[in-house]
Amino acid sequence: MKKILITGGAGFIGSHVVRRFVNNYPEYQIYNLDALTYAGNLENIVDIESAPNYTFVKGDIVDAGFIDALFTEHQFDGVLHLAAESHVDRSITDPLSFVKTNVIGTVNLLNAAKMIWKDNMQGKRFYHISTDEVYGSLGAEGLFTETTAYDPNSPYSASKASSDHFVRAYGETYDFPYVLTNCSNNYGPFHFPEKLIPLFINNIIQNKPLPVYGDGKYTRDWLFVEDHAVAIDLVFHNGVNHDTYNIGGFNEWQNIDLVKLLCKIMDEKLGRTTGTSEKLIAYVKDRPGHDLRYAIDASKINKELGWKPSVTFEQGLEKTVNWYLANETWLKNITSGEYATYYEKQYAN
Ligand code: NAD
Repeated sequence: MKKILITGGAGFIGSHVVRRFVNNYPEYQIYNLDALTYAGNLENIVDIESAPNYTFVKGDIVDAGFIDALFTEHQFDGVLHLAAESHVDRSITDPLSFVKTNVIGTVNLLNAAKMIWKDNMQGKRFYHISTDEVYGSLGAEGLFTETTAYDPNSPYSASKASSDHFVRAYGETYDFPYVLTNCSNNYGPFHFPEKLIPLFINNIIQNKPLPVYGDGKYTRDWLFVEDHAVAIDLVFHNGVNHDTYNIGGFNEWQNIDLVKLLCKIMDEKLGRTTGTSEKLIAYVKDRPGHDLRYAIDASKINKELGWKPSVTFEQGLEKTVNWYLANETWLKNITSGEYATYYEKQYAN
């Protein structure tokens, strides 16, 4: 039986990955390590909490002593590392937390894995999950490929870029067995409502303004989270050691067009007259260092591992809206805590 550690499994993407691994690989023993920060929510994985091959461990990846002891006790064969501070706006007000979790936390995990694998790296794998934001911003043309130079612009992307460099450096220096992926923006069920799509779904339900940064022309490539989980599964099992794969939705949208599409779907779902939700759009002061455009060339993972997204954006968005409308209690619970105060402060002006 393989012992697999998944970090950040109570968060958005991590919860989908944990669910997939627990359900699809009964022969694996899955350990979910999460500090349960504001973004971690055990309600996200309530359906698998009593599975026989699943164990939840509450703990902080910044605590090196704790991480070393955990690895020594369990002797994991593989690690899927998703725990992170993940919200760009928060990184602008508190960069140091991002350095601690994303950089130091990652190096702690690398050290612990290196310590227990040092005598035999055969069959071992450390999978670092990262973002396309490390590549910086694109102009109107071009796509990020696996060889695009890193050029991070926000404290969040700088911390993720740094952690990616450490992972590669451990590969080069210690022949440490790793794979790395850089993925575009995810959306879907269990997404914390500080991120654009769930924030706007929640605000439309509540008839609150929809804060759109700048002129709304920022362009992002969107991927349905369950398709990301499938890609992660493929890379973990079939990705080439010491290799990097870009993962994306082949699905670029300017923010303002995305918001209008979402408003249209929400008007239909809520039985409101077409155009009702669009009236809630409110342009707000731009985020400093805001990247104009991200777009991923995901042809390598497509050609080498046969992965491609399974749903169109319209299908994925409809699934997402249906999920939020069917899970209003989840949304109420999550928005009633610390996040409500943060939101008021962030969008007070
Ligand atoms: P998230 O913020 O929803 O979840 C992060 C999880 O990590 C939470 O459960 C949180 O409690 C946990 N965590 C935070 N600090 C921790 C610490 N010090 N110790 C242990 N656990 C800690 O994030 P997400 O959106 O699910 O992103 C997961 C990973 O995927 C991140 O590494 C992120 O950079 C990457 N990523 C995200 C996206 C996206 O669109 N969301 C896109 C590409 C890559």
